[in-house]
Amino acid sequence: MNIVLLGPPGAGKGTVAALLKKELGVPHISTGDIFRENIKNGTELGRKVESIMASGALVPDDVTVELVRDRLSKADAADGYILDGFPRTIAQAEALSSFADIDAAVCFVLSEEEIVKRLSGRRICKSTGRIYHIVSNPPKVEGIDDETGEPLIQRDDDKPEAIRHRLEVYEASTAPLISYYEGKGLLRNIDASASPEDVLASILKALRG
Ligand code: AMP
Repeated sequence: MNIVLLGPPGAGKGTVAALLKKELGVPHISTGDIFRENIKNGTELGRKVESIMASGALVPDDVTVELVRDRLSKADAADGYILDGFPRTIAQAEALSSFADIDAAVCFVLSEEEIVKRLSGRRICKSTGRIYHIVSNPPKVEGIDDETGEPLIQRDDDKPEAIRHRLEVYEASTAPLISYYEGKGLLRNIDASASPEDVLASILKALRG
């Protein structure tokens, strides 16, 4: 099954995708994670996207589409995948439809107040990408990853100025994808205010129902 996760930044797509991946046995492909990995490794792509990402703006469509096209051609994506953070514009969705058949677009629905709360409290482990929240999902020891023992960091784009910009970008460029996939009969709206386990259960029901 080829699934797209839609919804604003901070709605829990990455957290739930990690659970959904185990449930469905297909890879979780997050364009944000791929970009962050490239930045960490100092690649040419990483250098190109670092300042764009830190500001909360979008990486150009052509760069992102090529990255995803290449990733979907890998053997592990042959039996399905979960796309997280892609597509983010109508142009990306149209490009995707030329090389992939999407079975469902799951939209995480969450209020703006809750989004800001989640993003500003989010902390990650840089090497593994594991996601925490200082209130709702804290690590066992404050500021430290449970498994690697590394210090947790706040993403540059989770700082207040960048959060505001990301939400504006979401409204202007990404929210139109909801109607786009609705028009194709693929949209499944999910209440994303529940716990990750409950959101997972709602998604599985929507996909199987
Ligand atoms: P995310 O981890 O999905 O919140 O993405 C973090 C940042 O990576 C975004 O704010 C963008 O700068 C960049 N990014 C991720 N996915 C895309 C995409 N599909 N198109 C353009 N930029 C993206």
